Amino acid sequence: MTRKALDVERIRNDFPILNRQVHGQPLVYLDNAASSQKPAAVVAAVSGYFLNSHANVHRGAHLLSVEATDAYESARAVVADFIGGRTRELVFTRGTTESINLVANSWGGANLAEGDEILLTLMEHHSNLVPWQLLAARTGAKLKFAGLTADGRLDLDDLTAKLGSRTRIVALTHVSNTLGVVNPVAEVARLAHEAGAICLVDGAQSAPHLEVDVVEIGCDFYAFSGHKMCGPTGIGALWGRKELLEAMPPWQGGGEMISEVRLDGSTWAAVPHKFEAGTPSVGDAVGLGAAVRYLSNLGLESIHAHEIELTEYALDRLTELDGFDLFGPRTDRVGVISFRYGDIHAHDLATILDARGVAIRAGHHCNQPLMHHLGVDATARASVYLYNTHAEIDALVDGLLAAKTLFGGFA
Ligand code: PLP
Repeated sequence: MTRKALDVERIRNDFPILNRQVHGQPLVYLDNAASSQKPAAVVAAVSGYFLNSHANVHRGAHLLSVEATDAYESARAVVADFIGGRTRELVFTRGTTESINLVANSWGGANLAEGDEILLTLMEHHSNLVPWQLLAARTGAKLKFAGLTADGRLDLDDLTAKLGSRTRIVALTHVSNTLGVVNPVAEVARLAHEAGAICLVDGAQSAPHLEVDVVEIGCDFYAFSGHKMCGPTGIGALWGRKELLEAMPPWQGGGEMISEVRLDGSTWAAVPHKFEAGTPSVGDAVGLGAAVRYLSNLGLESIHAHEIELTEYALDRLTELDGFDLFGPRTDRVGVISFRYGDIHAHDLATILDARGVAIRAGHHCNQPLMHHLGVDATARASVYLYNTHAEIDALVDGLLAAKTLFGGFA
């Protein structure tokens, strides 16, 4: 398939929010790693669903319930296909965090015993760390952490050395939300399997930006969030291998997830419904389906190519600035650019940029252990998506220069 260049100006028209002003300045939205903006098509799909077809799903005999069920289940099919998975292997959740908690509670509770090991990396988001800490506290399992190379890549030798006969799961992020680095997750899944462990991939920062095929990666679980990929907040998914999902116990009980309920016990619905207790977030699932259709129509390959080109431009311009210091490698990365700029604190940079309409993020990015490793308490982070432009990168650079002037240079 030939790759089409993105028509960014046309794409920007799909995102009404990009036309607004912030502090009297045109919005330059560079906080996409935290959450992306939404195209009108997604908002229309959600409102169209509520205005025309809403009812509770799965258990109604009336037309609206049938339409709502169709909308919900066809969103599941579209979202599963987007990441190369089968429909019945895709569980809707509130997002990456809930997906990982599901695995830690259900698979972890059933499979981990005292002395077993959970192997993570030093660059995990708190969402792929704290659920495992809770599980370890409950089961007596131990956490281990693969380290990083000096330029901020996953140290595969260290990971291999830490994989042992007690390792039950390797859980790692596909793309670091601070370093921007793309991890060799297929290689890690292979290593995990060789050691007799399973592999969970945190796809929060990859599903929006890379063509993902969970079968090609060879992982056992893949978790992601809708709101970072043009979809609504409060919806995401867990893809899991069918055999694993079928063998796992439910993690929350209630309606929708049962087959039969008696006073002395219950049996469970088939996967994925076994893991979806209660009325699901149907409108949000419909919105995520619309987001996936929107991204697929443009083509992930084209979106990725645009972001890589823009990131190269940004790094060329930024690394020319005296005092600019990039965290993470220059190659094998996406457009998540974490940096420090002289001795101006990241929060001051973000505030000064905000006054100029430029939205970036400052802080620990839910990566406190990584911050300790890097020896900082916070970084500034600019992150691009399909609608960002070269002019917006120029606005970021101008804003940084203005911050330096405001501070009278660096100490
Ligand atoms: N994992 C990574 C790598 C992330 O960047 C994020 C969000 O920033 C998450 C997990 C958590 O995602 P959510 O808050 O949507 O559950």
